[in-house]
Amino acid sequence: MTVHVFPQLEIPETLAAGPGPGNTDVRVLQRFAAAGVADHMQEDVLRGMVECKHMLRQVWGTENTYTFGAAGTGWTGLDMMFSAVRPGDRVVAFTNGTFSGIDGLTLRIKAATPQELAANSLDPQAASVTIIEVPHGQSVTKDVIDAALSTHKPKWAFMAHWETGSGRINDVQAFSDACVEHDAMGLIDAVSSLGVEDFRIDDYPGVVGWASCPQKGICCLPLTYAPVSFTDRFIESLKQTGTCTYGNHPIFEARHWGIVDGQDVEKGTYHRTHSAYVVAAFHEALRLTLEQTVARRAQDYIRHEAVLREAVEAMGCDVTSNMTSLVVLNLPEDMAGREMELVQHCRSEGFGIWPTLSAPVQVRIGILNQLNRHAITEIVTRFARAIRELGGTVDQSAIDDVLHRYYGEAIAAE
Ligand SMILES: *Cc1c(COP(=O)(O)O)cnc(C)c1O
Repeated sequence: MTVHVFPQLEIPETLAAGPGPGNTDVRVLQRFAAAGVADHMQEDVLRGMVECKHMLRQVWGTENTYTFGAAGTGWTGLDMMFSAVRPGDRVVAFTNGTFSGIDGLTLRIKAATPQELAANSLDPQAASVTIIEVPHGQSVTKDVIDAALSTHKPKWAFMAHWETGSGRINDVQAFSDACVEHDAMGLIDAVSSLGVEDFRIDDYPGVVGWASCPQKGICCLPLTYAPVSFTDRFIESLKQTGTCTYGNHPIFEARHWGIVDGQDVEKGTYHRTHSAYVVAAFHEALRLTLEQTVARRAQDYIRHEAVLREAVEAMGCDVTSNMTSLVVLNLPEDMAGREMELVQHCRSEGFGIWPTLSAPVQVRIGILNQLNRHAITEIVTRFARAIRELGGTVDQSAIDDVLHRYYGEAIAAE
């Protein structure tokens, strides 16, 4: 048998201008590459994990002891959070796009009885789960939340904080209030909001579980750590019911972060083999976030999203999102139906914008960790060029007006 070794894999530098992953900060990449070879019980690795835990609590505004990183991506943290949901549990889940839709599927998988799971294992219809579908492009609002929780009185309620599929912010205050009023335990997908919006999870007592991801607002690498945070009530419920996982079990995983029996201990104990590189990268990402402050970053997102929004509107696009890290838009009428073509054209040139992943087809342009006028101007310029290259027309002077109005005359000289 001949052995075929492929050439070394070269991956080009691209402009990550989608919903995520964002542009991993160079400081994070540098710490990742500079970490020495060290095992998962080496002193500085363990210390780094404990320091990450303390920094994450500050970033997230919480005193929840069970606040740490789930090794993996957003879905890993979400899966860990949803592991507390057991077969037959009564659940209400609000969905308004691709990601909350997958969260809804996860909840149906977790809450399905063995018979329901066997009947349709990849898409189980769990009788105890009620999915409230809010149309793509709309937010989940107080009236919808109140009506569903008062009618169904579930054990668990679920919502995405920011639904990245449609770019919509949902009402987490109303969600938390309704959970308190109806004694439901709230679970939140905070994958897109952490590090982008200035919020403190301890201000939302109805929510017992939060899950995010490494590579969006936190500016770390994918497959490092997905931040999670659980209240004592969540952990108590989980301890009583148990759950069928070892690797991704919240209580077992927390031990390696120095959280044992609800208490912080000085040093983590073995749960699984963590990576010195990943710990170093995550540690730097959290340091960076705390140095810049979440409040400051949130203001920058608001400011720069407004520029991108107005610039694409000046090109004739219709923006339907209200997130501050992402613009979701319909193309001008004469380009309608060519969204995929435009996105593929941009991507082939290393300009990484995205389509929506579920109907309707729209274009998504993100600004994660692109919080300066150079980066936004580059994104605007490349998008306008792509429209022209596909035969569309854009009014360059209208675009320039927007850039000048926000960024000043300095732009013209560049
Ligand atoms: C990105 C995203 C996810 C999935 O995260 P991965 O890191 O790809 O696993 C889940 N929910 C929301 C709201 C997201 O934006």
